[in-house]
Amino acid sequence: MIIGYVFSGSSSNGGLFFGESDAAEIICSNCGTCNDYGYAPRSLNINKSQMYDISFTDDLRRVFSDRFVAFAKSNLGSDEQFKIIQTAHGSLNYMFPSRIVEFDSIRRKTQFVNKCDLCGGFESIVGAHPTFLLSEKPIGPGFFRTDIAFASGKSKFPLFIVGVEWKKLLEKEKFRGLVFKPIEG
Ligand SMILES: [Zn+2]
Repeated sequence: MIIGYVFSGSSSNGGLFFGESDAAEIICSNCGTCNDYGYAPRSLNINKSQMYDISFTDDLRRVFSDRFVAFAKSNLGSDEQFKIIQTAHGSLNYMFPSRIVEFDSIRRKTQFVNKCDLCGGFESIVGAHPTFLLSEKPIGPGFFRTDIAFASGKSKFPLFIVGVEWKKLLEKEKFRGLVFKPIEG
């Protein structure tokens, strides 16, 4: 049975999320782990042709269009905070879900590579798909994130997840670039 979906953008927008000078303060100088997921840059330099409703930066942060945010707030009733990021082609928005689901790294055989003595994190965490969660209960309303961040260095970032109902509602809006991967329970 499908209990929820991982959602993301289909392509990079060419921007660098950690391109501004103050980003260095929240990045571990040893392993590159980001220590503040609330951080968002003031602006992004992205390709106009990649101005999708959802896309990701070259350093793997997801960003959302104003239309996506308006729908999430008014139609879905999302209570998440969205931070506005300026681009030359209009604004985008960053969101970090407050709801957490636990990833089953043992069942998935996820690899934790190079523990960092400075921040306690790992340089790389590999093995996110297919996605297994510890709880096999269907995911309810809201945006969720995994408790584990995947990929390497500052690009490490949790998976974003919605339940079956929210996936249907989002899909109906035909948001450009929005892609889903099912999670089996
Ligand atoms: Zn570190």
